Amino acid sequence: MAGEAQDDCLFCKIVGGKIPATVVRETETTVAFRDINPQAPTHVLVIPKVHHPDAVSLAVAEPAILADVVREAGEVAADEKLDSYRIVFNTGSGAGQTVFHAHAHVLGGRGMQWPPG
Ligand code: AMP
Ligand code: ZN
Repeated sequence: MAGEAQDDCLFCKIVGGKIPATVVRETETTVAFRDINPQAPTHVLVIPKVHHPDAVSLAVAEPAILADVVREAGEVAADEKLDSYRIVFNTGSGAGQTVFHAHAHVLGGRGMQWPPG
């Protein structure tokens, strides 16, 4: 059922403590941890504890939790003292999504190109 932990989901395993992560923030509904393959000096992932395959599915099913994710992205940026940063929701494999549990990338600490690649 949507929202329930999936046995084969990497990020559900991180939420459940079955795989270690460098957690920087946690709330009742979210976890934020450092990306294992950072693409910027700050690269933190903010995920909902509930399983939904992408950010849009989360927005449709549980919009308040998507708001929690975005608010926590801002808190990460504040903790990391980032004046400018990028919040990215890769959606679909063609856009680079590799983990199908909704997550926001918080990227900062270097210059950013526009448009993104
Ligand atoms: P995406 O490609 O948008 O689905 O993002 C998935 C992200 O998860 C990538 O940036 C990976 O580097 C990151 N990632 C994969 N496994 C782990 C892990 N065990 N701990 C932290 N980050 C991870
Ligand atoms: Zn999951």
